[in-house]
Amino acid sequence: MTRPRRPQMTYPFSHEPELGRPDKVAEGVYRCRIPLEFGPPYINSWLLEEDDGWTVIDTGMGTKISSDAWRGVFKDFFGDRPVIRVIVTHMHPDHIGLAGWICRKWNIPLHMSQVEYLTARTLVADTHHDVPDEAMRFIRAAAYTDEQVDSYRAIFGKFGSFIRSLPQAYSRLRHGDRLTIGGVEWIVVIGRGHSPEHVCLHCPDKNLFIAGDQLLPEISSNISVWPYEPDANPLDDWLVSCARLKDYLPEEVLVLPAHGNPFTGAKERLAYLIADHEDNLANLRELCRTPVRVPDCFATLFKKEIPDDKLNMAAGETIAHLNYLIHDGSVIRETDGNGVHLYRRAD
Ligand SMILES: [Zn+2]
Repeated sequence: MTRPRRPQMTYPFSHEPELGRPDKVAEGVYRCRIPLEFGPPYINSWLLEEDDGWTVIDTGMGTKISSDAWRGVFKDFFGDRPVIRVIVTHMHPDHIGLAGWICRKWNIPLHMSQVEYLTARTLVADTHHDVPDEAMRFIRAAAYTDEQVDSYRAIFGKFGSFIRSLPQAYSRLRHGDRLTIGGVEWIVVIGRGHSPEHVCLHCPDKNLFIAGDQLLPEISSNISVWPYEPDANPLDDWLVSCARLKDYLPEEVLVLPAHGNPFTGAKERLAYLIADHEDNLANLRELCRTPVRVPDCFATLFKKEIPDDKLNMAAGETIAHLNYLIHDGSVIRETDGNGVHLYRRAD
């Protein structure tokens, strides 16, 4: 199978704004790059201007480097105008990390989808706990070596350490909700797969789409199976979401992603992402002609060595592809005497 053609996208802004310095992308809409401790170097928070203050979308991690950037924004850019609402696209620490901190500072509500909020509360509760048996079975099934199991133990439950304590109540966002922000309507569009109920915001009047991690210009969003739902099929959710978004979004909409620069060409980018995953699935179907374990698929899927600190993401993403093939009937999963999963073609 030939690799899908690279999409044609355009980036209307020629500069990368300074970290922590809001930069106007449209009337009343600002991009603010908040630095991150690890992972991608920054997240784009989007600031929407209202008559009586600011709506903040996504927040950075609950660490000093991110909160220091916000302190500068509050003082130098917001001045005496308050934040009046926080919207978080999804539960990952680089998005939700400082949500509680900002909400408490102004005594304002946190707006999220239900599954994202409740899952964040659940995962935060893992912090400082030992690895449960279910997670041990999951990583053993993925053929982790003893050394890799030890590394997994060492980082288990870290999720909550990058999130300042969450508000104990929230305000729910649903697909199709219409929010008036800064005098214009923003429509809530839910995407799935990267995270279970990811919020995007579409403003037809301004022709803008705040995409979070649901649609990124350069990197392909991680689609992973996690130990708490080992038989999940998030890749199917992801492909369905991409196809729906491709139908829904107007041709020339300006996409405001959580990482990378604003771009147009959403439909092409989505078509590419779909084709790329389908290409990977076809290659894996071939590979499974002889039984394989999870790490045996890495070279086919990622075409590069997986460094130790990326192992969990790589394994999670590989299992997402393999589970997709189990769900569509082309692959069967068996378990050997050591609890390791072997995947082979059904035919
Ligand atoms: Zn994310």
